Amino acid sequence: MYNAKAYSVAGATSPFSPTGIPRRDTTEHDVRIDILFCGICHSDLHTVRNEWSSVMPTVYPCVPGHEIVGRVAQVGSAVTKFQPGDLAGVGCLVDSDHTCPSCRADLEQFCRNATFTYNSQDKHLGGVTYGGYSDSIVVDERFVLRVPSNLDLAGVAPLHCAGITTYSPMRRWGVTKGRKVGVVGLGGLGHMGVKFARAFGAHVVVFTISPGKKEDALRLGADEVVISRNANEMKKHAGSFDFILDAVSADHDINAYINLLGRDGNLTLVGAPSRPLPVSAFGLLFGRRSLSGSLIGGIAETQEMLDFCGVHNITSDVEVIPIQKVNEAYERLLKSDVKYRFAIDMASLKSE
Ligand SMILES: [Zn+2]
Ligand SMILES: [Zn+2]
Repeated sequence: MYNAKAYSVAGATSPFSPTGIPRRDTTEHDVRIDILFCGICHSDLHTVRNEWSSVMPTVYPCVPGHEIVGRVAQVGSAVTKFQPGDLAGVGCLVDSDHTCPSCRADLEQFCRNATFTYNSQDKHLGGVTYGGYSDSIVVDERFVLRVPSNLDLAGVAPLHCAGITTYSPMRRWGVTKGRKVGVVGLGGLGHMGVKFARAFGAHVVVFTISPGKKEDALRLGADEVVISRNANEMKKHAGSFDFILDAVSADHDINAYINLLGRDGNLTLVGAPSRPLPVSAFGLLFGRRSLSGSLIGGIAETQEMLDFCGVHNITSDVEVIPIQKVNEAYERLLKSDVKYRFAIDMASLKSE
């Protein structure tokens, strides 16, 4: 066991402060990574403030962070995929049981015994796992991703959650050239959805409530932008979409979007509104449309996504901050005042 530097919170209303956390010594299958950048995901904020207490109560102290990119510092004797000096990434998962039907189908994110990167039972040290707001992390090599060397590393960090969360449902629902794809909400998730849909060759329509985001949506790769409060603009697209990615986590009318789907069209939710959404059955019956959810992706698909990003030069648009500004960043995140993801430069932790 060794001591790693980190930023943690002591309770649901406490700010972040510098701390030391235990990390395990590298076992034979482990990779120890010196963290270079860690993205700030909205899930970090929900967890830190114990807002998901009914599903996953937060254990304090809490060190969040599951959009990790860094350099391999040390490998165990049985590690084959990595060598010291390699770039490496870690997303939302650090372990699973490897034996259940989901694991066997490369869908570790649905394993009932999955270990999440933070606030999950730590099988090695006891207590809970600590995430990427830290200078290093030790992870089983099966859950460590290879990172393409041609990309900006700060922009690579958010691919490990925001990237795979939007990539996976598009692959599942067959987003390819010639398909008409909608992206609802242009935030951390939505802006990645636009980039992937564009790279897959789809015709991309962004739905937003803010006319101010139009120019940005076009710059990110949208072919059209629809202001969703304008009923006439919405009507023009009725029954025409193959797939809609809904990345909104606030209350909103999903029936308005279901009605834009064509026959056999699908709307997938990747945002998590806190209250149940009313759904009109008729919207689904007519046209045999479907409504789905999606949760990150398995390790193999996350690797596929990173490789795809390397080939297509895709990264997240980030604002890089020192870790000392993390409390301020959380306040700004609540106001959606970031384009489109914060990435913490972990070099700033060295001075603590
Ligand atoms: Zn996340
Ligand atoms: Zn499993």
